[in-house]
Amino acid sequence: MGRSEELRERLGAVRSRIDAACAAAGRDPHEVTLVAVTKFFPSADVEILAGLGVEHIGESRDQEAGEKVASLPASVRERLQVHFVGQLQRNKARRVAGYADVVHSVDRARLVSALDAGRVQARADGEVDGPLGVLLQVDLGEGEQAGRGGVAPADLDALAGAVAEAEQLRLRGVMAIAPLGLDEAGVRSAFDRLAALGERIRHTAGTGPEREATWMSAGMSGDLEVAVAAGATHLRVGSAILGSRPDPR
Ligand SMILES: *Cc1c(COP(=O)(O)O)cnc(C)c1O
Repeated sequence: MGRSEELRERLGAVRSRIDAACAAAGRDPHEVTLVAVTKFFPSADVEILAGLGVEHIGESRDQEAGEKVASLPASVRERLQVHFVGQLQRNKARRVAGYADVVHSVDRARLVSALDAGRVQARADGEVDGPLGVLLQVDLGEGEQAGRGGVAPADLDALAGAVAEAEQLRLRGVMAIAPLGLDEAGVRSAFDRLAALGERIRHTAGTGPEREATWMSAGMSGDLEVAVAAGATHLRVGSAILGSRPDPR
């Protein structure tokens, strides 16, 4: 089987899982955006996926992502939204702000200011137009349990306020990775907490544009059904579509 056929089959299977999860949750599949996480896979795969109707790709490693996006034909690039979903260092913020449409992994105020300054510069340099979408990554670990990155819920409102004040950032909502080692009920309860935190930042934001921060990015290859049930609007699915990666991250 060629790579195109393989990706078509795997993507079809993931779309069927999403449709079934939406049906079970009484949700409209149009409310749920599939972000195909293409890290470790070549731009040729991105082109195949775009040809199969994928409109959103996710990347988590800056250098790889920048090169891959730059190598896409303009006709493919302009039909794709690029989501940066990985941990991000401040010194990479300028570069990411020059090719990403959305960053899912904003977890500290110093990254907010670096991304904002980076976007201002990227616009001045003609690399992008329009502001950068931002999701706040929340740490859903509790008690003994190790979280998997993100701002502590107690610090979330202050971080949302920092994004609201940034000139070239638009707050879109919240993101999380389920803590390791939970059973399905535990993952569901973690994602329910994330949904409540998303609600909280919209409420705290009052009448500002942050009330439109309606996105909830949760759910990966192994737990997308649980995320749909909990109200996720964006699923970040890698290995179920692309196959297993060389690195188990
Ligand atoms: C790699 C990655 C994914 C995709 O994970 P899969 O289990 O392969 O679906 C989702 N979110 C983030 C932040 C990632 O780094």
